[in-house]
Amino acid sequence: LALSRGQPFHIHEDTDSAIVEDELSLLSDLDNALLAGDVSVVYQPKLDLSSGVITSAEALVRWNHSTRGPLRPDYFIPIVEKSDRICSLTIYVLRRAIADLKLWNTGCPALRVAVNISATLLESPAFMDELQIVLQDTGVEPQNLIFEVTESATMTGHDRAAEALLALKEIGIAISVDDYGTGQSTLTYLKKLTLDELKIDRSFVEHAHQNRSDAVLVRSTIDMAHELGLKVVAEGVETAECLDFLRSVGCDMAQGYLISRPVPPSRFGELLAEYRLA
Ligand code: C2E
Ligand code: CA
Ligand code: CA
Ligand code: CA
Repeated sequence: LALSRGQPFHIHEDTDSAIVEDELSLLSDLDNALLAGDVSVVYQPKLDLSSGVITSAEALVRWNHSTRGPLRPDYFIPIVEKSDRICSLTIYVLRRAIADLKLWNTGCPALRVAVNISATLLESPAFMDELQIVLQDTGVEPQNLIFEVTESATMTGHDRAAEALLALKEIGIAISVDDYGTGQSTLTYLKKLTLDELKIDRSFVEHAHQNRSDAVLVRSTIDMAHELGLKVVAEGVETAECLDFLRSVGCDMAQGYLISRPVPPSRFGELLAEYRLA
C-alpha cells in the first residue's frame, strides 16, 4: 500500500524527465538529420481567386526521422523552437525554398515563396545576420519572399519584434500574419506594423459557408483588412462550397486541400503549369 501510494509521484517524475530526455535526444538528432537529407520541404499553393493563378508557395517542413519515421511539424517545431536550433532549421528551409523558387521561377517571375518564421527569431540578431548572408549568397529578390509570422508573434509587445518586422519590410520581404483570429490583436495595431497579408485561421474558414457567426467573422475581417490595404488568404479550404463562399465575400486568395495538399517541389512545378493553363 505504501508503495502504491508513493507511485503516482514517481510516475509523474519519470514522465517529466522522459519528456525532457525525448526532447533533448530529438534536438541532438537534428543536425545529423539536416546533413543526411532527412529533413525536406513540401509546398502548398496559394491560389489567387480573381485570376485563378497560383501566386505563391508556402514552404512546410517535413522530418523523416531515421529511427522514428515521419514526424509531424506540429510535434517537432514546438520542441525545436525552445532551443536556438530553430535558427538553423529555418535557414535550412529558407535556402531550400529559394533554390526551389529558382527552378519554378523561369516561367513566372512573379511567383513568391512563403516561409514560416517562429516568434523567437524576430528577436534573434543571429537570425537576422544569417538572413543577410542567405540573401547575399543566393541573390534572391527579397520581393519574392514572404515571411509568415503568427498573429501572437506580432503581439509580443516587444519593441525588438516590431523593429524586426520593420527591418524585414525595409529589405523588401512581405510579412503575412498567420493563424489570424486565434490571437488577441486588433487590426489597428496590425496597421501600425505595415503588414502585407492576413491569413484567416482554418478554424474560422472551415465552417464559414454554413455557420452564421463564422461567416460574419470572415466577412468583416476581409472588409477591414481591405480597408487597411492587406490581402487576405483563407487557409484550410477543403470544399467547393467553402471556396464559393470565400469568392462571394471578396477573399483574395485561398489555400487548402481542395486546391492541393502540400507537395514536393517537382510536383509543385506541375501544379504551376496546370493552373496557368486553367
Ligand atoms: P501553418 O503555418 O498554419 O500551416 C498550415 C497547416 O495546415 C499545414 O500543416 C498544412 O499542411 C495544413 N493544411 C493545409 N491545408 C489544409 C486543409 O485544407 N485542411 C487541413 N486539415 N489542413 C490543411 P503542417 O504542414 O503539418 O504544418 C503544421 C504547422 O507546423 C504549420 O502551421 C506551422 O505552424 C508549422 N510549420 C511547418 N513548417 C514550418 C517551418 O518550416 N518553420 C516553422 N517555424 N514552422 C513550421
Ligand atoms: Ca503558415
Ligand atoms: Ca496558418
Ligand atoms: Ca496553424
